[in-house]
Amino acid sequence: MPRFDAEYVPRSAMAIYAHPDDIEFTVAGTVAKWARAGCEVTFVLITSGNAGTHDRTFTRKSLARAREREERESARVLGAARVIFLRHGDCELVPTVALRKELVRRIRRHRPEVVLCNDPQALFFGDRYINHPDHLAAGKAALEAVFPCAEMELLWPGAGLPHKVHAVYVSSTAAPDTWIDVSDTIETKIAALSAHRSQLGARDIAPYINERAKDEALRAPKKAGRKGPGRPKLAEAFRVMRLLREEK
Ligand SMILES: [Zn+2]
Repeated sequence: MPRFDAEYVPRSAMAIYAHPDDIEFTVAGTVAKWARAGCEVTFVLITSGNAGTHDRTFTRKSLARAREREERESARVLGAARVIFLRHGDCELVPTVALRKELVRRIRRHRPEVVLCNDPQALFFGDRYINHPDHLAAGKAALEAVFPCAEMELLWPGAGLPHKVHAVYVSSTAAPDTWIDVSDTIETKIAALSAHRSQLGARDIAPYINERAKDEALRAPKKAGRKGPGRPKLAEAFRVMRLLREEK
């Protein structure tokens, strides 16, 4: 059984997020790294971000179409095997039982070893950013789908055979315990983000992404006295919920 440490690469992973570009901003370095190492990565986007603009030349429909195109392009850059759009309304997401069931259906179909999602408790970041309600709702629905619902035999048998997810990598969290070195995939992350033209326009996102990955790495504890690599220079941080018992 794996140890779910910073070196671990799952055989399959499912990233469940609210909007096209959420995966790219938060966990793209990690999923690109895992995909390169042979992990089969599935993206699940619960909304298509159809309210996410101040540009009134878009309609909700045309924006959703554009953002799905951008997400598919970005997923190709990151090496994801597939992208699934559930097409809920942007800014309206609620972690209902119906949404949980939709996610259970996808988890049972693709049977990921690891699920990645946002921390539903992370309401404030610094003094400038209140977390988007869809991010909180998506994180909560994903966690509820993973545990206990996806693995319960008697629950929703029509949604597929039960599946136990081994670990959840929770991103955008105030309580990280695992830092994944993304030095080799940060350029891929930036390239994937640049596919999201409806969101970024002409903005050069590279300095911001590099700065954030540096800051995350600085929060990692130094592995003093241990062999192997020390603190990474660029990292993505996670709280890892280990649902399978690890080897000692
Ligand atoms: Zn978002």
